[in-house]
Amino acid sequence: MEGVISAEDRGHVQKQAEKAFEAPLVIPARAYGTTGPTARLRPMEIKRREPRPQDVQIEILYCGICHSDLHQAWNEWKNTVYPCVPGHEIIGRVVKAGRDVKKFKEGDIAGVGCLVDSDRTCPSCRAGLEQFCDNTPTFTYNGEDRVSGGITFGGYSQTIVVDESFVLRISRNLDYAAAAPLLCAGITTYSPMRRWKVGQGQKVGVVGLGGLGHMAVKFANAFGAHVALFTTSPNKTQDAMRLGAHEVIISKDPDEMHKHLNSFDFILDTVSAEHNLDAYLELLKRDGTMTLVGAPPTPSPVTGFSLIERRRQLTGSLIGGLPETQEMLDFCAERGIVCDIEMITMQQVNEAYERMLKSDVKYRFVIDLQLSAWS
Ligand code: NAP
Ligand code: ZN
Repeated sequence: MEGVISAEDRGHVQKQAEKAFEAPLVIPARAYGTTGPTARLRPMEIKRREPRPQDVQIEILYCGICHSDLHQAWNEWKNTVYPCVPGHEIIGRVVKAGRDVKKFKEGDIAGVGCLVDSDRTCPSCRAGLEQFCDNTPTFTYNGEDRVSGGITFGGYSQTIVVDESFVLRISRNLDYAAAAPLLCAGITTYSPMRRWKVGQGQKVGVVGLGGLGHMAVKFANAFGAHVALFTTSPNKTQDAMRLGAHEVIISKDPDEMHKHLNSFDFILDTVSAEHNLDAYLELLKRDGTMTLVGAPPTPSPVTGFSLIERRRQLTGSLIGGLPETQEMLDFCAERGIVCDIEMITMQQVNEAYERMLKSDVKYRFVIDLQLSAWS
């Protein structure tokens, strides 16, 4: 089928065949996944490894739906290996903890985000920036499994086994379902705002009010900035103000955009589809920064002039490392910050993807795995 990359095509099977893997996949688990870019997600059986001494096995309670799940399931980034079981905003209960596990015991609530492994020795890993591992981090799904071989499967399933170093502690103060999307949408917006020091006295823009965008608005507000939300959906104005925006700018209206020329310190762009970056870059002050976290599959062109004039900067950011993810979760527990969610069952996932494409989600779908049927 066109666009389908099999494990063999990617060459990893041959490479992996030369290696002896530590723990075979033996625990059967029900999951939802897809077998090709045009196929709907459907029930399937996968296998997880028996927990090693350093592993925890988690019974998954909730899993958020990120737009990246849709990009990957539909092979929009052209790197999907099928079958693909998405899901990287996972919260669940520890049902087994290996004998060397220190942070968790059976019954604890735990979280897993976009990463389940990395080489742990390169400079990025040593700096707690495992997402930039020089030897490729192991993503929670569609990643090369360092422990068992093959491709990793994500959180649209009953259970997952992860090394405790990549498992996050979840405070009892958090609503577990509403906290699940913090594991991706939360850290992806928290991390760049910390890095570029968003705070009081700054005018900060957030582009797009979806899963990432609504968390960006909450964080920018919590950090004390003046927050402006750019949206293509005028009907989200009231919600944006409730979530913490101080003003809302309809990005399709050139007059409204023009009023804000050269005025922003920082803009975080969370848009999932192609759009005009110059229109936002021009709104930055001298030396202002715009950071892209949205990952549209097609390029969004930039003319050099919007950067050259006023020495503006265009940067990007990828999720966050383990230490910062824990810091963000603890910050949220302290400040009572969670996501605004719409709960669904596994059977509704295809419909949820269609709605996400139409920007019709307030503001994150979360799958209740306990309520879901698996056949
Ligand atoms: P989402 O919930 O679907 O939100 C995306 C928002 O973008 C929409 O709600 C909409 O907001 C806006 N939008 C959509 N199409 C648009 C268009 N054609 N022009 C202008 N605005 C448009 O998606 P998400 O889960 O927040 O993810 C957003 C993007 O971030 C995805 O590309 C995802 O893959 C990426 N991502 C990156 C990272 C990372 O580490 N960098 C991590 C997670 C996700 P309005 O209705 O307000 O306009
Ligand atoms: Zn994500």
